[in-house]
Amino acid sequence: MLDKVKNEQKRKVLVVDDEIINRMMLGNIVEKNYEVLYAENGQEALDIIRKDGKNISAILLDLMMPVMDGFMLLDTLKEEDLLKETPVIVLTSEVTAEVQSIRMGAVDFIKKPYDNPEVILTRIQRIIELFEDRQLIETVEYDFTGLYTKDFFLEYMSQIDAKDPQSLRDTVAFDVEHFHLIQEIHGKTVADEILSYMGSNIRDFLESHPGIAGRWDADQFYMYVTHLEDTKELEELVERLSNYSPDITVRVHAGIYTAVAQDVEEERKTAAAKSACNTLSNNYTKVIAAYNEKLHEEEVYAEKLINDMDDAMNEKQFKVYMQPKYDVTGEEPKITGAEALVRWQHPELGMVSPGRFIPLFEGNGLVQRLDHYIWEETARIIAGWKEKYRRAIPVSVNVSRIDLYDPEIKTKLLNIIEKYHLEKKDLHLEITESAYAEDMDIALKVIASLQNEGFLIEMDDFGSGFSSLNMLSRMPIDALKFDMQFARTIDTDQKQYHLVESLIGFARMLGVMTIAEGVENKEQYLAMKKAGCNIIQGYYFSKPLAEEEFVHYIEELKEETC
Ligand code: C2E
Ligand code: CA
Ligand code: CA
Repeated sequence: MLDKVKNEQKRKVLVVDDEIINRMMLGNIVEKNYEVLYAENGQEALDIIRKDGKNISAILLDLMMPVMDGFMLLDTLKEEDLLKETPVIVLTSEVTAEVQSIRMGAVDFIKKPYDNPEVILTRIQRIIELFEDRQLIETVEYDFTGLYTKDFFLEYMSQIDAKDPQSLRDTVAFDVEHFHLIQEIHGKTVADEILSYMGSNIRDFLESHPGIAGRWDADQFYMYVTHLEDTKELEELVERLSNYSPDITVRVHAGIYTAVAQDVEEERKTAAAKSACNTLSNNYTKVIAAYNEKLHEEEVYAEKLINDMDDAMNEKQFKVYMQPKYDVTGEEPKITGAEALVRWQHPELGMVSPGRFIPLFEGNGLVQRLDHYIWEETARIIAGWKEKYRRAIPVSVNVSRIDLYDPEIKTKLLNIIEKYHLEKKDLHLEITESAYAEDMDIALKVIASLQNEGFLIEMDDFGSGFSSLNMLSRMPIDALKFDMQFARTIDTDQKQYHLVESLIGFARMLGVMTIAEGVENKEQYLAMKKAGCNIIQGYYFSKPLAEEEFVHYIEELKEETC
């Protein structure tokens, strides 16, 4: 079909008529605008259409012919699904035949005798245009999973609402957890099969629940259905969606937003269902969540944070806090560094923790600006210590996965080092484990080049996600920073203790340091130390401290040791 559109000048029209004089007369007219093919009867026409139907823009068909007449040809084309490809215009002088042929799938008719060439040409042109438009639309209306594409889904949502604005309906969002990883591990073909499988199960669900379904952004599926009084069947659907194959773990979650049609516009509905769905990410026990007032408030809050970011940057509302890190390999723990953690001193909301705003800023790219600011502030603080104490305490800064896509990242870091006369080993870089997995090729390349430059790389939140141990040996890492969950149970759970102990052994084998964070009490501290961990960070030693507090803290430590 696209070929037809591309060859604007050369559209082909097939004239099917047994009378040579008719063929010539019609051919003469049509030739002006089209390339004309001829067939003397239905059978000949069929052969041409079967072979080259895709490249024929319209068929002009006489009804009364020997061998195979026009009706039989229409019948056969319909049966072979060829009428979808090419419109048929019937040539006739009988009213009853016109009606019958239109019923059989012809789209229009031209009356014999051919006394007005302009009318005939205009008719053919209009039919071809109409048909091509329709086909163009159809090609993007559904995607390969058999569900609507985004624009069509939203359009049909609004049509449904317009027809019946009073009814309660549910917008449901489905999401596959870590879909990009499935695609990376199993390949695109399998990933597409999973999507098709999901599409067909969702369509089955719609057989018994009136509504529509769509898919976009790879693994984002949506349904708009008559309100489900009971979510049991939806739960079953979600479970089915997760059961693609016993060999591949596919975890699907669903979020529901319920509203009376006229309340909210379409995209708000899908967004609300999606945020309900997002609350379940990394949740292994619940598969469905509903949108509620609390979520709404959180969204309003999130929107405010995003709106206020610019002012906050300009007014220096972001503060660097420092949390000490202790070397615990000797007799007595010794302070060996710190982690820089951002805080937002918001003029109305008070102190906002990074857990609230970093994910938002990662979502819209603002995090790059913020991180750059924090790196520079950290460098400024280290430089101050160097001048005051003639000695630097290395500080690790957090590098968001988004930063890794910044082509300037290395230059930016080097400029900061130069500006504050630091050494590269003064500024460690914490990169979360999931950033390594996200877009492995890019991430590894960037991280390796930072490491080669002389920056020390700490893999943050190690063990929270997917890094397999045999991949670890090939990754650019100087230290492994255990995810907090390990500290939480290491003193009470024997299995956890042994796991940590063997991971530390493995790290030692790779020549990589180990850091435990989130160590809150003496028992956890002793267990981590016994397991062989090199460095410990956590409330047991100190909370993250504001710049001045941290200086104070260090000076007190000095006095104690003097
Ligand atoms: P993270 O990098 O894993 O940082 C450790 C978090 O654990 C910090 O939370 C820290 O305050 C907290 N923490 C430290 N010791 C303990 C403890 O003993 N018990 C418990 N329960 N928590 C402890 P915080 O400061 O709220 O930061 C949260 C996350 O925000 C960080 O997790 C990090 O991923 C991100 N973040 C913080 N600052 C920045 C930044 O400047 N840039 C970027 N991109 N992300 C940042
Ligand atoms: Ca960190
Ligand atoms: Ca961490």
